[in-house]
Amino acid sequence: MKIHFLGTCAGTEPMPDRKHASVAVEAEGRIYWFDAGEGCSYTGHLMGLDLLKVGKIIISHAHMDHVGGLGNLLWNIRKLTFERRKQPEQGEVVVYTPNMDSWNGLLQMLRNTEQNFQTKYPVYAVQVEAGELFDDGIIKVTAFPNTHLVEWQQDRCLSYSYLIECDGKKLVYSGDVGSYDDLNEAIGKGCDGLIIETGHFGIDEVQQYVSGKNIRKIFFSHNGREIISNPEASKEKVKNYFGNKGFICEDGMTIEL
Ligand SMILES: [Zn+2]
Repeated sequence: MKIHFLGTCAGTEPMPDRKHASVAVEAEGRIYWFDAGEGCSYTGHLMGLDLLKVGKIIISHAHMDHVGGLGNLLWNIRKLTFERRKQPEQGEVVVYTPNMDSWNGLLQMLRNTEQNFQTKYPVYAVQVEAGELFDDGIIKVTAFPNTHLVEWQQDRCLSYSYLIECDGKKLVYSGDVGSYDDLNEAIGKGCDGLIIETGHFGIDEVQQYVSGKNIRKIFFSHNGREIISNPEASKEKVKNYFGNKGFICEDGMTIEL
């Protein structure tokens, strides 16, 4: 699978080179979108990703740095169906979200855009709950509740980390966490890749957490002040700690896992 980093910034004010969180996983010609921070569809499209290959969009939680670009992503997919006279390849666009209130608000906004946002393909949301989200024969995604958001909605957690299994490999997407220990269950005995948020923690804390764990590659994303304000020193620190296992991800970067 390929991992495209579309937005690698935590929820800061605008930064020159980084936009809010978004990652696309590409496998067998399909694109699975994890979080949709501001500008993610622009970045993806301009990188050469075919937005009509997006069938599933998976949201970790409804904070703006993770959903600020969702409306635009859906709008751009629809725009391309007119430009190319083609429909999305999977015949539908599904958004997996922990927060249906947020989805309903967004849908209302979209319905007040051009032609009431009518589409020839279904666009709908599925409520995320703990456990397997889907297994479409290409990738399997499992949701793990985390403690980034302490308030729940009825008996539902509103914030998740995800385990992505594809082609015999395991990739963990942290989303935002309350503590790195939130990731224990998703990582289990180890994983091939860990996309870890550093918006709430620093490089030292990542090192402490992953030490002794069987994690082959560590991707620093959703980057916070430590990395943004001192990129060169951060790169050096990551190199010293992790050698060629650690990557400070940047917008527009693609990595084959
Ligand atoms: Zn965030």
